[in-house]
Amino acid sequence: MNPTLQDTLLSAIRTIPDYPKPGILFRDITTLLGDARAFRRAVDELVHPYAGTKIDKIAGIEARGFILGGAIAHQLSAGFIPIRKKGKLPHDTVRVAYSLEYGVDEMEMHRDAVKPGERVMLVDDLIATGGTADGACRLLTQMGADIVAACFVIDLPDLGGRAKLEALGVDVRTLIAFEGH
Ligand code: AMP
Repeated sequence: MNPTLQDTLLSAIRTIPDYPKPGILFRDITTLLGDARAFRRAVDELVHPYAGTKIDKIAGIEARGFILGGAIAHQLSAGFIPIRKKGKLPHDTVRVAYSLEYGVDEMEMHRDAVKPGERVMLVDDLIATGGTADGACRLLTQMGADIVAACFVIDLPDLGGRAKLEALGVDVRTLIAFEGH
């Protein structure tokens, strides 16, 4: 019998306690990426509801969102937009500040990466407080993108990120939830 999606993901995601600081349970997807079946399954399940939906571009958040987003872009025959930490992109950029657990940081994308009206799916590995994804959504909408969905393998619902994006009217897809943070 085929393992359920939950079983596949639970056994492929590694949890590292107290990384990068005490009290955090780091959900490490490198083990999922290294497992051909689990990686493929995660990508297939993320895109499943959007098969047949017109999506022009996938926007991936540095760095794990690049790996998942690249695979999803291929699957959906869409282009790919890298959203990066400030100072990494070589051409003319737009920048937005976003909140982290402690303090703020800035992320950027190329100004010409998306055209007004293009339909974009945002991708990252995990949504926690939603600060990162919210910043990425603001960048994309500022450039006129229509955000079709935001997709994450992992949801930490206790931190409220998913609810925050949904309150902005974004359709959120996640595959597995873990309690706590
Ligand atoms: P947030 O902005 O709070 O939603 O945090 C999401 C970003 O931080 C994503 O890019 C995640 O990769 C990373 N992140 C936050 N919490 C964790 C965690 N417990 N395990 C792994 N990555 C995390």
